[in-house]
Formats: sequence, structure tokens, C-alpha cells
Amino acid sequence: MFVSPKRYDLINSVETIKLAHAFFSGRELVNMYKQKNPGKKVVSVTLPYSEIIVAMDAIPLNLLRYEEFTYKNTHALLRNMTNLTKTFGWTAMDNLMKVAYFTRAGADIVDIIVENLIGALTERNAYVTKQAEQHGFPVDSCFGSRMLYGINLTVGKIADACFDVVYRCPFFYKYYDSLTPFMKNNYILDVPVDNGDTAEKTLESDLMEFISMMEKLTGNRFSEERLAEALNITNELKALYKEILFVIAKNNVIPYNPLTFSNVQAVMMYSFIDFNSNLKAYKTNLKNLYAEMLKKVESGNGFDASKTPKVLYTPMFTGLEEENVKILSRLGARVILADWEIFGYLEPVNTSNNVLRNFVRHMLKMGQFLGPNSETLASTMIRVAKDLNADGVLFQSSFACKNIAPVLKIFKEKARLSGIPVVETSFNNMGENIEQNKTRLEAFMEMIKE
Ligand code: SF4
Repeated sequence: MFVSPKRYDLINSVETIKLAHAFFSGRELVNMYKQKNPGKKVVSVTLPYSEIIVAMDAIPLNLLRYEEFTYKNTHALLRNMTNLTKTFGWTAMDNLMKVAYFTRAGADIVDIIVENLIGALTERNAYVTKQAEQHGFPVDSCFGSRMLYGINLTVGKIADACFDVVYRCPFFYKYYDSLTPFMKNNYILDVPVDNGDTAEKTLESDLMEFISMMEKLTGNRFSEERLAEALNITNELKALYKEILFVIAKNNVIPYNPLTFSNVQAVMMYSFIDFNSNLKAYKTNLKNLYAEMLKKVESGNGFDASKTPKVLYTPMFTGLEEENVKILSRLGARVILADWEIFGYLEPVNTSNNVLRNFVRHMLKMGQFLGPNSETLASTMIRVAKDLNADGVLFQSSFACKNIAPVLKIFKEKARLSGIPVVETSFNNMGENIEQNKTRLEAFMEMIKE
């Protein structure tokens, strides 16, 4: 198979850039939607259950997307891209990149798009956690809850409501409580621990309470048809997501160089939370993205990763340490991010009969993966590592996480029995312990390559 030796592989990657552009232009896009339709309500979301928001004809928003990504002038680049594509369409962007690629300035543009967006995300994460600390949110709480509180402080005003789903996590409750003084229509869905009929009925009745709140807020009536319509779309997208993980990412030839591919996967994962605030556009984008990836590989514009060990990096939805991904890429590995598969989100939801109840069941299922002693989470991580033919796993601990981090002990034992090498890194804030992590990752890669 011919393999392009290019440093970056974003030529012929319009859909990839489109996905990243939509993700990082949340502020611009949401303001545009509001301008077009001032009555539309914005609902802040933290986990990928946004079908219910779409069904209420409101705009789901992962608030981090509403931040201004000023790092290395990323916001200016994004705006230029918006203006160019508004006037000339996305093909113009591709043509520009093709021409620009062969000039120094052009190579810099490509550079910014590939690496700086994730850098910009890391920078914003650091900024909002600092804000949380300065405004009295406990410094000894986990990174995830500090980040969520900080984002709400900085850009929460855009949201008309807040839809949080919690799985017995003390820090998440703390975060939710701390929003009450300033967040309008602050709603938390407390998912029961078990899976039985009573749990289903309780969760369904709580979800109905949220729906009633949304009906008052939006003036729209809830309909199961609309929920089914949204779920049918996401079922289709989940199947594509699985294909990208278990076929494309697993292949010997991958569509981008390993670092770029990891960054693309990070954007895919985070954008799945709110579908970049527009499910229909997201559907088209993701379908075309999948086709684009296949085409790059089939037309010989892929990257030969046959000698590049695969490292499954998990959990990362509570915080991705960008430096770890860069270090592993420099050491010759390719990082795969599969949290939504591991935590069960990529399972389809049945859209016949009682759709709301089926959605509730889907939400309940995730509970089995959470909790400090989750055998299921440990076993699923092993299953996914095996299905991906991963050569090792990087377990990303987050300091003070009471819900997921403690699973490491059980997971390590299961991985040892399965012969899967594991390395652990931990952070309190992003960008910390880099030297120490580097030493660990070097030793880990030596072990894998032996
Ligand atoms: S699951 Fe862990 S990281 Fe997420 S909010 Fe709870 S304690 Fe924090």
C-alpha cells in the first residue's frame, strides 16, 4: 500500500476540518442560530444524551464550545474559515489548503489547524479550572467538576437551562449545587444504581419532570416521534463511530498520521456530547467524514501504521492530557480514544414502542460502568482493548476522582491476566507532571516494543 510521507495529512480532508471548525466555533454558530430564531432555547449538556434536547426543539450546547479559543489566535483563524466558507463554500477551503500547503505560510496554516485546536482546548480547560478555584470551588475536588463549574462561571449565561445526568458521583452533585445561585432552570437527573422496573419508572418520571420544564420554557410539546427521529439519526452515527474505531483505526493503514488521527478522535468524542449543536448538520458531516477517511485509505493517501503500536487511552472524557498523546506519538505509538464505546453510549436505542422508556433504559445501562469497584468497567476496557488489538492501555487517572479512577486496581489485575501492558498517569490540572509522565511512557513503550 502506498503511503504518503507528508508531515500532515489534512489535504482532501474537508469534512475533518468542517467537524473541527463546527466544534470550536460553538459561540459563532449558536449566536447565529439564535439570531435566525430568537425564540430557540439553549440547553447546556455534559453527557451525550442530547437527543432529548433536540426532541424539544432546543439547542444542546457543551458549554466549553462557547468559550473563545484565543490560544495562538485560533479564534481569528476560525472566523476567517467561516467567512471564506460562507462566501465560497467548503471546496474553496480545500483548494486553498492544497495551494497553501506548498508554501511556508500554508504549512503554518495546516499546522495551526492540526495541533492548535487541541492546544486551544487544553488552554481553555486550564483557564476555566483556575476560574473555579478563584471563585471558591474546592481546590481538592476533581478536575472534571472544577472544569464544569468554571465554564458555567465564564459562559454559562448563554444557557436557558442546564441538563445534567449524574451517576452517584459526589463531586458532580457538588458542581450541580454550586450552580443553583446563578443558573436558571438548573436540572439534574439522578440515575438510580440498579436496573430493575422500579429504577426505570423512577428515572422515567424524573425525565418527564425535565420534559415538563422544557415544555414551559420552549412552548413546544414533547412527542415520542421527535425523540425517535433524533435517536434514529444517532443510532446511525453510533454505527459509523464503531466502524471508525474497529475498522479504520484498527487497520494497518490509517487516514492521517497518528497524532492527527488521535486529535480527530478527540474532536469526534467531545462533539458527540451536543452534536455540535445541530444534529442534522452533524449527521451529514459525520457520514461524509467516514467516507472521507475510507477514501484517503483506499486511494493510497493513508499513513502506514503497520509498525505503530496501538495504545488505548482511557478514560479521557473527564479530561484529555494532550501532552501524553504527543509523547506517545513521538515514541512511535498511535493513540485510540474509545470512551463512548467503553461506557456503552454507542449502543443503539430501540425506537419502536415506548421510546422514552427505551431511552431511560439506555441511560440506566451506563450506571453499570460507574462506581469505584466496577468489575464491568474493568472487563469492558479489556474487551475493547482486545477488540482493537491494542498493544497496551494508558489509564488516565484524575486526582480525586472517586468514581472511575479507583477501577484501576481491578483493571490492572484483569489486564495482567490477559497479558495487556498498562501504564497509569494522573493529573490534578492539565499540563502537570509532564516529565514524570514522559519517563513512564518511555518505559511503557520499551516494554511494548520488546
Ligand atoms: S466521575 Fe470522577 S472525574 Fe467525573 S465528576 Fe465524578 S469524580 Fe469527577
